[in-house]
Amino acid sequence: MQFPTDKNYYKILGVSRDASAETIKKRYRKLAKMHHPDANAGSKKSEDKFKLVSEAYGVLGNAEKRRAYDRFSPRSQSSAEPARGRRRRARSDKSRYGYGSGETGPRAEYREPFPREGFQEEVSIDPNFPTRGFDLQFLVNVPLVTAALGGKVPFSYEKYVKCTHCSGSGNAVDCSACKGRKQVVKEVSIDVKIPPGIVDQYTLRMDNKGGEGRNGGPPGDLLLKVCIEPHPKFNRVKSDIYSEVLISFELAEKGGDLKVNTLDSVMTIPVEEGTLTGEDYRIPGMGASTPWGKKRGDFIVKFAVADP
Ligand SMILES: [Zn+2]
Repeated sequence: MQFPTDKNYYKILGVSRDASAETIKKRYRKLAKMHHPDANAGSKKSEDKFKLVSEAYGVLGNAEKRRAYDRFSPRSQSSAEPARGRRRRARSDKSRYGYGSGETGPRAEYREPFPREGFQEEVSIDPNFPTRGFDLQFLVNVPLVTAALGGKVPFSYEKYVKCTHCSGSGNAVDCSACKGRKQVVKEVSIDVKIPPGIVDQYTLRMDNKGGEGRNGGPPGDLLLKVCIEPHPKFNRVKSDIYSEVLISFELAEKGGDLKVNTLDSVMTIPVEEGTLTGEDYRIPGMGASTPWGKKRGDFIVKFAVADP
């Protein structure tokens, strides 16, 4: 049996006969990138070299084919202890892919993710490929009153934007500001619109406010997860707001009017004669908005009577 080639694949890839699978793969990637037609303006010479390199790797990059090639192809150098070389290769394969002991041959080789993955990489590392900006995710603290009634909160964050020093150009390699990345990190400030009645842990999505795209790609989105801050006086349960108010012993005993701060106003409420700690007074429609802002819950004053 004769392997159907007289080409010296080891020489083509520039590796020794006992090179590890890892070394061969690295070497191939380097050569493939160097001679890739896309990187050489479609040069015929590069294309031929690229094909040759790919052919060599097609054999040497596959343990089964490599074994057959080693056995039947003409050797340009002496066969110094091929058994040991083979064992070494097997060991390096195992450490890289986590093969079980004694598991060799085609079945194991099918897990080899190359070359398919390698070609994907060629695409993704193309520095001029338009890519979408990053989606950015942050937590945003929202005061209880703003969450209850809606409003705006200022928010600052960092994102990638086009480098103004080189205008994000293809000649960015020498740019001192972005060092060839075409983008720089910039802090931006925005006002986040908080819809009335928003609930804790709700995520607001703001289209196109994420990182800017590269090479004309679209920007990503900004996702803000709402953290409602506790309030010293108000407690929210769904759309109702509870507020504990300390009243004097005299007022509780005799009754009278009491001014209370609600979410958005000051109101006067009656305190009944003989009010006890824990009793409450409900003001309809003065609580938090319902989640769609259509109506409001109640504001409930819970009395706490001071000691005489
Ligand atoms: Zn730049």
